[in-house]
Amino acid sequence: MARYTGAVCRQCRREKLKLFLKGDRCYSDKCAFERRAFPPGQHGQARVRKVSDYAIQLREKQKVRRIYGMMEGQFRQFFERAERAKGVTGENLLVFLERRLDNVVYRMGFASSRSQARQIVRHNHMMVNDRMVNIPSFLVKAGDVLTVKEKSRKIETINDSLEAVVRRGVPAWVELDKENYKAKVKSLPSREEITMPIHEQLIVELYSK
Ligand code: SF4
Repeated sequence: MARYTGAVCRQCRREKLKLFLKGDRCYSDKCAFERRAFPPGQHGQARVRKVSDYAIQLREKQKVRRIYGMMEGQFRQFFERAERAKGVTGENLLVFLERRLDNVVYRMGFASSRSQARQIVRHNHMMVNDRMVNIPSFLVKAGDVLTVKEKSRKIETINDSLEAVVRRGVPAWVELDKENYKAKVKSLPSREEITMPIHEQLIVELYSK
């Protein structure tokens, strides 16, 4: 599957927001955004010009796509799915994105970033309801129980992430049983529980053009 291979921190600087893409580094003084909080490139520090509505909508979409580490095609598919579902499209989109298995593994603390979570899932380390699932875009449901496979419980990155999860905390919609490498999706997240500064209506407007 296609994936972004450029400099990761550049994406935060482009979106003028910490997207927390690099695990522990994001919480340290090595964070590139803390040191250079302006867009990358030759004109990064140039005077801000008036931006069009389209540019604002595009930036919002790019920001959310980058937070969840998705390429354009798959992000668009998620949007179309959200459009078909009952309810408010923008909110549906965010809930669908939060339900992705890679995101849930990250939220539960088994990984320190979504990209690390994706790798953990792809490498067959996670079970959903006692069945191995290695598809990062798999959507979890309320009541699903995720466990780290018995053989994978010695993996350093998983253990380090579980130790570090205290710092960022787990959301109220999941219940973590750290000792047993297990966590439950208590309920699906509500819009209020998705706390990243996202204006999803701008994405709806962009794709509705
Ligand atoms: Fe973004 Fe993390 Fe890099 Fe900081 S360290 S710029 S938050 S990816």
